[in-house]
Amino acid sequence: MQGRPKGNLFVLSGPSGTGKGTLRKILFERVPGIEFSISCTTREPRDDEKDGVDYRFITEREFRARLDDGEFLEHAFVHGYYYGTLRSDVVRALESGRDIMLEIDVQGALQVRAAMPESRLIFVSPPSFEELEHRLRDRGTETEERLRVRLHNARLEMEQSCKYDHVIINDRADRAADELTRIVLAYRDADKRPGGASHETL
Ligand code: 5GP
Repeated sequence: MQGRPKGNLFVLSGPSGTGKGTLRKILFERVPGIEFSISCTTREPRDDEKDGVDYRFITEREFRARLDDGEFLEHAFVHGYYYGTLRSDVVRALESGRDIMLEIDVQGALQVRAAMPESRLIFVSPPSFEELEHRLRDRGTETEERLRVRLHNARLEMEQSCKYDHVIINDRADRAADELTRIVLAYRDADKRPGGASHETL
């Protein structure tokens, strides 16, 4: 029988505009050795995004072919585009003892939990819905129509945050990043103790 995977699988979710990407980047600067899972997506790259770094930008045809071949650990249709996590990336990291973090939506996170119950689910929530709308408008990357889709999805996602192991309210990035760092390091430390980690004990 195979043992428990050596690395931790962290899943970070939260409505778009909630700042989870920023928190993840601060975490990665502070805590070395966590891999970022580079998702596949059919959406167009934004100006500051690089193929193979932020996402693997692929066509819908390629996405469907990979889906048919069973390459995705999870996938979802989000805000009008397909997104998916390659199973091979996750398995490779965990089996070689490295921690990996997925930054994915709620539908995907729940698929990961079903496939890999030992995953650690962390939800980043905005301080309020009004604040989220304000942040998304300020970011200015979306048309009004796309913005409305994102806000609608945000409400649905926030309703599901109770299914996560941890909820971090991103009221201030430095405080929220401290909380995220503490959570990740606590799992790492707990792994070294007999019996391992469980979110109830953290
Ligand atoms: P964005 O287009 O703003 O980069 O991402 C839109 C949403 O898709 C975000 O909530 C993001 O976390 C989610 N997302 C990104 N990659 C994946 C993925 O591989 N799978 C799933 N299910 N969601 C993803």
